[in-house]
Amino acid sequence: MVAVFDQPIYVTRPILPDLGLVTEKLEQIWAAQWLTNGGGQHNLLEARLRERLAVPYLALFNNGTNALMAAVDCLGLSGEVITTPFTFVATTHSLAQNGLVPVFCDVDQSTMNIDATRIESLITPRTTAIMPVHVYGMPCDVGRIDAIARQHRLRVIYDAAHAFGTEIDGVGIGTFGDVTMFSFHATKTFHTVEGGALAFADPEFKQRIERYKNFGICDEETVSMVGFNGKLNELQAAVGLTVLDCLDDELAKRRNIIRLYRDHLSGVDGIELAPLMPGVVSNPSYFVIRVDEAAFGCGRDDVYGFLREHNVFARKYFYPLCSEFGPYRHLPSSSAENLPVATRIARQVLALPLYGALAESHVDRICELILSAPSGRRPLPTGEARHQPPVLV
Ligand SMILES: *Cc1c(COP(=O)(O)O)cnc(C)c1O
Repeated sequence: MVAVFDQPIYVTRPILPDLGLVTEKLEQIWAAQWLTNGGGQHNLLEARLRERLAVPYLALFNNGTNALMAAVDCLGLSGEVITTPFTFVATTHSLAQNGLVPVFCDVDQSTMNIDATRIESLITPRTTAIMPVHVYGMPCDVGRIDAIARQHRLRVIYDAAHAFGTEIDGVGIGTFGDVTMFSFHATKTFHTVEGGALAFADPEFKQRIERYKNFGICDEETVSMVGFNGKLNELQAAVGLTVLDCLDDELAKRRNIIRLYRDHLSGVDGIELAPLMPGVVSNPSYFVIRVDEAAFGCGRDDVYGFLREHNVFARKYFYPLCSEFGPYRHLPSSSAENLPVATRIARQVLALPLYGALAESHVDRICELILSAPSGRRPLPTGEARHQPPVLV
C-alpha cells in the first residue's frame, strides 16, 4: 500500500514567527541585561494580552498547569471540587496536587463541556469549587455555572487552555467565574513556547498571585506564604509578543480550513461536528469530529488507524477520560454509570489536522480518506468509498 501522504501530517503545528523579528527582541533583552522576574518584555506582553483578552487583571506564568495550581492554592480551596473528566489530565492534576478530591461530572452531549444541569446533584458539604473546562475553545454554560456557584457559595476556576480569544456576545471568556486559566503552550493557538496566565477581576488577588509565583516573597527580608517558581521569563515573553503579531493571520487561515472540513464532512451519516453556537466567537484551535460506529459503518479507531497508515496523525482528544487514568479511576465519581455521555463521546472523538499552513488540497484528501476508511470488522476493497461525500455548493 502506498500512503497518500509521503510526509507526516500532524494534528497541529506551532506558530513560528519570522526569526528576524524574534532576534530583534532578543537584542533588546541582551541590551537590557534582564532575563526574568518581570522584565520589560514580560510587562509589555501582560499589557497587550490584557487588552486582547479584555480582562481586568492578568498574571503570567511559565506554563498553564502552574497557573492553574497557583489559582487553586491561592483561593484556599479544600475538600471536593466538581470538574469534568473530558479534558487534558493537567486539569485534574491541578486539584490532586493540592490535596483536593476531583468529583467528576458528566458532560453535555452537544458541547462536550461539563453538563451544568448535573452539577448541583454532586454538591456535598465538602464541595468548595467548580472547575469547568471550555473544551476545544467552546464556552461552557457560564450563566448557569456562575448562578449555581453564587447560590452555593462555591468558587469557579475556568480552564480556558483552549479558549484564547473566545467571546460570548462580545464578552471575553476570561471574565467569568473567579479565575480563568489560559495556556500558552506551543500547541495552543497563541503561545510563548511554554507559558500560561490567570485572568481575574480582584486587585487583591493580583497582588497575592504575583507574590505566590515568586516564592511568596514580599521584599528582600520577608516571605509571607508558601509559594513556588511560576515566573514567565523574558525569552518566553519575547516569543509571545512576536506570535501575537502574526496570530490574526493564522486564525484567519485556520477558520478557512475549518470551513473546508465542514463543507466536506457536514451531512455525512455517523459523523458529528462541533455545534455552531450563536453569539459565540470560538477559538479555531481544534477541529474535532465524532464518529458514531453504528451510523458511519466503521469506528473512530478504524478511522484513526487508516489515517495513520496514510501518514495523517489525527489525535483522540480526549481519550481515555481523566477518570479512567490510574490515579483517579478508584474515585466513586469515576464510574462509567456516573459518566455515560463522557464515556461514549471519548470513544467517538477524533481531532483532525488543523494549522494555518495546511494546504487546502491536503484537507480535501484527508476528508476523502475519512470517508473511505475501512472497518476493522468489515473491510472494504481499497479505494471504495462507503460514504458518498455530500455535493459541495
Ligand atoms: C494544555 C492544557 C493545559 C496545560 O497547559 P500547559 O501550559 O501545557 O501546562 C491544561 N488544561 C487543558 C485543557 C489543556 O489543554
